[in-house]
Amino acid sequence: MSHAISIHPAIDNGIAPESADFAGGTLICACAAHPVKIRIKGQVAHNHACGCTKCWKPEGANFSVVAVTPTENVTVLEGDAKLKVVDANALIQRHACQECGVHMYGPVERDHAFKGLSFIHPERFEEKGWAAPGFAAFVSSIIEAGFAPAQMGAVRARLKEVGLEPYDCLSPGLMDYVATWTAKKNGVLAD
Ligand SMILES: [Zn+2]
Ligand SMILES: [Zn+2]
Repeated sequence: MSHAISIHPAIDNGIAPESADFAGGTLICACAAHPVKIRIKGQVAHNHACGCTKCWKPEGANFSVVAVTPTENVTVLEGDAKLKVVDANALIQRHACQECGVHMYGPVERDHAFKGLSFIHPERFEEKGWAAPGFAAFVSSIIEAGFAPAQMGAVRARLKEVGLEPYDCLSPGLMDYVATWTAKKNGVLAD
């Protein structure tokens, strides 16, 4: 059975099961020679499909698959010289391979609720068992990349069909987390 709408290869072809034993692995870029390799310690968190225009997506995909890990769990094993920050002004410092374009890790270093976390694309793991995506974020943003607005109903229906609740920002849990951090920083809420 084929679907007209491609969300992402790791979702369109059936979401691979996560493993309770997954203890991390190695992310690898798409270069045939001398690929960038990044060691990630431990299971990833908050894995989700993302429709924003900043996340790296494989060819033909309308969404990325992106998760977070503490930056202290990220180690560049090989190819550091090939990495370059895509946009130094962005909250997420996405380090991309300059040859193949794959984003390898994106730490948040600015004062923000996500400070200390790095965004990664778990589909680049050489190993299986990483946490399955749990929701879809920034769904409406795929229009900014040129997706037909009239097909958004079909996109949201497809996301629900595969168990990914569609949101037009982050999930309620993460939005609450960010707002709580902001309220505490501003002294509106006690620590
Ligand atoms: Zn590469
Ligand atoms: Zn994104």
